[in-house]
Amino acid sequence: MRAVQYIEVGRPPRVVDVPAPEPGPGQILLRVTAAGVCHSDLAVMGWPAEGFPYALPLTLGHEGAGRVEAVGDEVYTVAVGDDVVVYGPWGCGMCRNCSLGLENYCPRAAALGIHPPGLGRPGALAEYVLIDAERHLVPIGDLDPVQTVPLTDAGLTPYHVIKRSLPRLYAGSTAVVIGAGGLGHVAVQLLRAVSAASVVALDIREESRELALRSGAHHALPSDASAVDAVRDLTGGAGASAVFDFVGVQATVDLAGRMVGMDADLNIVGIGGGVAPVGFDTLPFGTRVGTTYWGSRSELIELIALARRGAVSVHVERYGLEDGPEVYERMKAGRIQGRAVIVPES
Ligand code: NAD
Ligand code: ZN
Ligand code: ZN
Repeated sequence: MRAVQYIEVGRPPRVVDVPAPEPGPGQILLRVTAAGVCHSDLAVMGWPAEGFPYALPLTLGHEGAGRVEAVGDEVYTVAVGDDVVVYGPWGCGMCRNCSLGLENYCPRAAALGIHPPGLGRPGALAEYVLIDAERHLVPIGDLDPVQTVPLTDAGLTPYHVIKRSLPRLYAGSTAVVIGAGGLGHVAVQLLRAVSAASVVALDIREESRELALRSGAHHALPSDASAVDAVRDLTGGAGASAVFDFVGVQATVDLAGRMVGMDADLNIVGIGGGVAPVGFDTLPFGTRVGTTYWGSRSELIELIALARRGAVSVHVERYGLEDGPEVYERMKAGRIQGRAVIVPES
């Protein structure tokens, strides 16, 4: 089968032929119907060879949708022909966090060598992907896999962090979304769907600001120092009740710190390496600073239900498998709007 693989540290990914996997006991083989491309892969492909955490070559793609092609022994809840999406942050399934569905915070996964598909084990940028357990699949029925696949990360990651900050997003409050790309434009829609907050989006690209407005943002502003005063003005001087930084570089984390109000949440989701100062008098009183990683199994189930109701509509750019390496180049150059989704059969 064809697969987009990261083969050598520092070299661009390539489309290559690899053997199609076969499902063992408890496993499920999916014929990939759609696979989303995430900015995190660019971060991974920027890491140095020394200490690189994954075995190479690595088939990329940690947002996957597929149709069940074959199942191993002792698979009971999905059947050949079912349409599903993949829950990516696999955990051990046995610890307390996993028992709550919070496999994204499984403390044992790393030690047990359990990795998400596309981030340590073969991912979804291929004709087929092997899933380790049926609990990592969510049925999507007749939802369009191309529209739905970004919900597994570009939707799930914002949904998880927004739910954490929901007590702060009361009527009359203001939420700021920094970076209205794949994750950020879905975050804007989710904030509108689940909260009463006013939503301000910041981005350095005009196209992304336009996408934010089309996604339901009340305001979209350039992401620079002028936005600090603008947010203060829009909030009557109070500042934002929650900032969601989907860029996470030092410049945006600094902006976020200057925009939060008292008793507010500063959420760092982007993996740009920025650091927020924490300590008395560094940020407004009562600021909670946090990072989040992906989301829980139950949240993905909730998100699929939300999509079924029509409350989220991901802006998708569609590509074929052979376009994989070019999609990463386009993403690096800031030339993707919304989410790039690869459709192997196109
Ligand atoms: P993307 O490339 O689709 O979107 C990035 C957006 O940020 C673009 O609209 C871009 O114009 C904008 N941007 C870039 N620099 C900016 C700046 N200085 N100020 C404001 N806007 C700026 O990326 P994505 O796939 O949505 O990923 C966003 C970030 O989230 C990445 O860092 C990614 O690695 C990270 N991520 C984190 C998790 C997690 O679990 N914490 C999960 C998925 C992705
Ligand atoms: Zn991702
Ligand atoms: Zn666990």
